[in-house]
Amino acid sequence: MPDGNESEPARSGGTRSSFVRRHLETGRHESYEQVIDGEYVFDIDRGGKAPFETYNSATKELQGIIQACVNDGRSLRAHGALWSLSTVAVTAGRLIDNVALRLAFEVPGKLTNPAYAGDPVKLRFVECGNSVAALNDYLFAANLSIKGCGSNNGQTLAGALSTGTHGSAFNFGAMQEMVVGLHLLTGPNRNVYLERKSYPVMSPDFPESVGAEFIRDDILFNAALVSLGSFGIVHGIMIETRDLFALNAIRFRHPYDATLKAAIAACDPTLIPLPAEALDIPRDNPYHFEIFYNPNEGTPPDKAIVLVMYETAYDPASYVPPPWNTGEPGLGASGLDVMGALVGRIPSPLNKLAVPLLNSQVNQEFAPYFKKAIIRDLFRGEKTLGKTLACGVGLPVARAVEAMEIAFDLYKRSRLVLPLILSHRFVKGTKALLGFTRFDTTAVMEMDAVNTSETREFYNTVWNELDAAGIPFTLHWGKYNTFLTPERVRNRYGGEAVDQWLAARHTLMENAVVRQIFTNEFTAELGLAN
Ligand SMILES: Cc1cc2nc3c(=O)[nH]c(=O)nc-3n(C[C@H](O)[C@H](O)[C@H](O)COP(=O)(O)OP(=O)(O)OC[C@H]3O[C@@H](n4cnc5c(N)ncnc54)[C@H](O)[C@@H]3O)c2cc1C
Repeated sequence: MPDGNESEPARSGGTRSSFVRRHLETGRHESYEQVIDGEYVFDIDRGGKAPFETYNSATKELQGIIQACVNDGRSLRAHGALWSLSTVAVTAGRLIDNVALRLAFEVPGKLTNPAYAGDPVKLRFVECGNSVAALNDYLFAANLSIKGCGSNNGQTLAGALSTGTHGSAFNFGAMQEMVVGLHLLTGPNRNVYLERKSYPVMSPDFPESVGAEFIRDDILFNAALVSLGSFGIVHGIMIETRDLFALNAIRFRHPYDATLKAAIAACDPTLIPLPAEALDIPRDNPYHFEIFYNPNEGTPPDKAIVLVMYETAYDPASYVPPPWNTGEPGLGASGLDVMGALVGRIPSPLNKLAVPLLNSQVNQEFAPYFKKAIIRDLFRGEKTLGKTLACGVGLPVARAVEAMEIAFDLYKRSRLVLPLILSHRFVKGTKALLGFTRFDTTAVMEMDAVNTSETREFYNTVWNELDAAGIPFTLHWGKYNTFLTPERVRNRYGGEAVDQWLAARHTLMENAVVRQIFTNEFTAELGLAN
């Protein structure tokens, strides 16, 4: 959040960006304090030029910013909505706020590769700063939809990819799985358009039209997909979309029993019977599977809260978006969203006497429902502005129950009373080299709470116990992850993957100075700098 320090507009004629000198960034959720030199901020596009010309001008301007940082010896990092709770998006040097870079383009079929296996009509080239919400609206107008997203819609597309943001679309995967091309600005004088060699999408005319060198290479692409902001500036992103579809979404309580555990272990929500009002929905296309546990109702609680979504046809003639109070978390709310909504309503520090109040508030937030809606109308409603702390632990689905029971047991033994929601989400494995959803089906064990020293200590204890139990796990790059060290990054994400990621940086970045500019403290401390 801006700290009100002095502003030094440094805009020259015809440009959209200015440099604002300010000294502190705390993130949208006050989860850190990062001293900075200042931030480049873009004005929104006023439509003075043709959109593609505007896009290409922004490329030049962004490269000019890289040059300025090279000249001034300052590190640089692009950021999106600053929703990351770790310091992955910040640096002691300068930031670029890219949220005003919001163009989006249809892709003329003649620019696609004849070998492209998908439907060119569903391709979109999206500028980095588009939020998920804006993208949803843009696609809706064309009867299209994104394929998956997190529980919410305030992230930018570039920011979401760069940390591997996921929902619980277990047959699809994390958000980066939609991406089939990346326009990367890797130096003042170098920019590349990357796609997988094994999945040709565009003809050389397209990279040429954005002034980029065309590189088709699976390893380089998979490296740059989850880049943590370290591969320069992701300016444009080619995504594959799909026809609008609706989801029958049902949230209900189910005993924490053998049936639920079997459904988790198999990542198969169809094993869980639905409540009576939803018995008739088609269940051949399960889409989303998520389970919440309130450890203040028991460790384990007698009942878990299950959220399942099954695909169904979208009918524009009859579709009515579910009513929604914009002040409330959306229907797809995660534990973090619910904690964000509760943060001002529960006493802090929490004591045992306040637990009934907390539990009733949690139950209210997770009230049962059965709705039919599209992605745009399910995953929205961010309320998390206070000091919340989220952690996403990626692990093999076969160890998901065991891991959760370790967390239950530790919570019980700690005798702590934390406003805490534990949950399971499930994500199809990613090809991104540093994607934290790296297991074939990754179960993400989430711990969402208010950010206090007790919470941080509890998360640390859980990580250590998972480790002691020999459960292989990764951590979400954009959430609380202080357990990570260079050695743990290598042995959890794979030494070969780390080496390939570093080598890809070496190949793609213009030179060593630029690589240094795009190294921040977060990546340097994790051995992800070269
Ligand atoms: C309320 C809330 C709900 C959340 N829900 C989920 C969820 O459901 N699932 C999940 O997985 N995560 C979730 N998160 C975490 C969040 O999705 C990620 O941290 C995501 O990366 C944030 O996106 P952002 O646009 O805010 O990017 P930022 O946090 O600003 O940046 C993230 C990374 O992207 C890089 N970056 C951004 N733009 C560019 C660019 N143009 N070029 C190069 N690098 C760039 C930054 O340098 C940084 O490394 C949630 C967080 C909050 C606060």
